[in-house]
Amino acid sequence: MTFDLKTAVANLKGLGPQRTAILAERGITSVGDLLSYLPFRYEDRIRFTPIAELIPGQIATAKVEIESGSLVRFARRRNAMFYLRAKDASGSLTARFFHGTYLEGRLKPGQTLVLHGKVTMDPNRPMWMEMINPEFELLHSGDEPTDSTEVGRIVPIYEAIGPITSRMLRRVIYRVLQDFTGEIPDPLSSEMLRRYAFPSRREALLAVHFPPHDSDIDALNEFRGPAQARMIFEEFFLYQLGLAIRRQQEQRQAGIPMLVREEHIREALKRILPFKPTGAQKRVLSEIATDLEKPTPMNRLLEGDVGSGKTIVALEAATIVIENGYQVALMAPTEILAVQHYLSARRVFAAAGYSVELLVSGMRPREKSEALERIASGKAQFIVGTHALIEDPVEFTKLGLVIIDEQHRFGVLQRKRLTEKGAAPHTLVMTATPIPRTLALTIYGDLDLSIIDEMPPGRTPVSTRWSSQEQLAGVWEFVRREVAAGRQAYIIYPVVEESKQELKAATAEYERLSRGAFSKWKVGLLHGRLRSEEKDDVMERFRRDELQILVATTVVEVGVDVRNATVMVIEHADRFGLAQLHQLRGRIGRGAAKSYCILVAPKNIADEARQRLETMVATTDGFQIAEQDLKLRGPGQFFGTRQHGDIGFHVAHPLRDHKLLDLARGEAFALVESSSRAAELERLKGFLGPSWEKRFRLASVG
Ligand code: ADP
Ligand code: MG
Repeated sequence: MTFDLKTAVANLKGLGPQRTAILAERGITSVGDLLSYLPFRYEDRIRFTPIAELIPGQIATAKVEIESGSLVRFARRRNAMFYLRAKDASGSLTARFFHGTYLEGRLKPGQTLVLHGKVTMDPNRPMWMEMINPEFELLHSGDEPTDSTEVGRIVPIYEAIGPITSRMLRRVIYRVLQDFTGEIPDPLSSEMLRRYAFPSRREALLAVHFPPHDSDIDALNEFRGPAQARMIFEEFFLYQLGLAIRRQQEQRQAGIPMLVREEHIREALKRILPFKPTGAQKRVLSEIATDLEKPTPMNRLLEGDVGSGKTIVALEAATIVIENGYQVALMAPTEILAVQHYLSARRVFAAAGYSVELLVSGMRPREKSEALERIASGKAQFIVGTHALIEDPVEFTKLGLVIIDEQHRFGVLQRKRLTEKGAAPHTLVMTATPIPRTLALTIYGDLDLSIIDEMPPGRTPVSTRWSSQEQLAGVWEFVRREVAAGRQAYIIYPVVEESKQELKAATAEYERLSRGAFSKWKVGLLHGRLRSEEKDDVMERFRRDELQILVATTVVEVGVDVRNATVMVIEHADRFGLAQLHQLRGRIGRGAAKSYCILVAPKNIADEARQRLETMVATTDGFQIAEQDLKLRGPGQFFGTRQHGDIGFHVAHPLRDHKLLDLARGEAFALVESSSRAAELERLKGFLGPSWEKRFRLASVG
């Protein structure tokens, strides 16, 4: 049969209903989808190594003749091992296939076979080489190895999809490409192909799945091959095109232009500032102010490491908007943080006389309805809350600015729901996950980006140490000394209550520590299962230094700001992610006094955990940490599925391919902004199907 891109995979030979269903779960339903499923690695199986030259530990391809094959059954086991002896002109080798029942009667003496796999030494016969579960290809007489999908070529390796192995995928895709007659429309114009010397989409697809013999295997495995570069560029280009279109639509929306450069606004800003802003804070405020003046809504991402002072910038932006007679809503991911913002906004705005309102789910019904009333009447000017802001029937009179703090904690749609409570309000999204600029552009490509890259003055870098359980007595001694000197400390545990996991839990350790090591001091306990009044109360007492030590879970992870706290002990530190550790550490080092972070974890831990802790000890720079985190986890996990899962690039990798990303972004935005390329844009919109639409929506809200 012949195929085109729209042919359903159900029609392909070798894929029954079961496999079709498994592919569908992965979003692969058409031939086009299947061809977009690209190899993640390639193996050079062009050259055959004579058996005599095989070296244990190496991966090799050998062309052999079968001498004997037999099935070895084990007592009481359902499956059996197929044991193969084979030879070539230079020597003999054995191969063992576990679960090899299916090979009985298929591999027969005299047949020519190509084996590919790791070479080991046969444990029973010194100097005999062996391959365990090698890939193999039976060559029928007259078969030219070049016709094979398995050997005699550079072989593509696909990530298995459930029970569908790389080998099955290889065969199905190979067959499809052989019989493919359909059109492969190319989103890249011939002009663009020429400019970047890219192959056409058809050429690229063929070469990416089954690279020509003379391809540079290293380049292929580093995704630098010309066909791969083209596919990567295309992916970025379409994605950025979606962002550019979306952005243009937003800019056509009528926003609320604010007056910024008036004398009374300057005065108001001066009045609220508790300290001299840093150069970076001034710069980002002026970027924000310029947006607020425009007749289109602001969509800006404010990025800055923990403790870089984003809050005051947000409050300055709020001041401008309130002075213009509009309301401002600030949404924080946790109640603790909302309360903290509420308190500091009240402090900062006291002199200005703005009315500050708090809305969280834990409020009493009476309080809440009064708050809702003040918000609806416009009496409340600055409204701080949690997701209660979107979940409750909150109505604003004149919502002019929406501020989202610590955006990585929010689902994208939650953010959108808040902005929809106003008529195209300005939006400022703040994040303490400092991601590299290129990556920020990929993901938030239609948000403008402001970066605070300077810490407020007078900070001493936090010193970080990795201690083991056995050193804990010394750690507590150190905490006692700091507390005796008038400082405060956090002690963090991964779980609230003890469980089977054998992790120390906050509740039990609180009991133990407050009676034992810290019996002379006031110790508080904070975790997510407390009622909101209890949480507020504990936090407030810690803030007032009535508690010297706070035993907590990661509820304190984001945003909490207590300047007198100088020690952060994190037990089971190997259980936390790098970003999380960095956020936790960000709770200290907020004043002028020297601060200390002590990571408690065994010294002999798995490699990845070790790298995380070593990174923490080596640097306090959030950008470096984010980059390392990205390397360790990859962008998907880095952002968490809720946040990022739908930006599923097939080949592109924003960090690795940042140069192509820059090019693609430039091309996409230039195209959308150009008035003379409407036809080209129209044609391209055909490539932006429903799946892409989903992506734009996610990306645009930040
Ligand atoms: P984050 O960016 O993590 O949200 P915050 O806004 O909470 O950081 O600020 C961290 C601390 O630094 C706060 O206590 C804040 O008052 C203080 N701070 C912010 N900017 C300055 C500045 N320019 N000078 C002195 N202290 C500042
Ligand atoms: Mg903050």
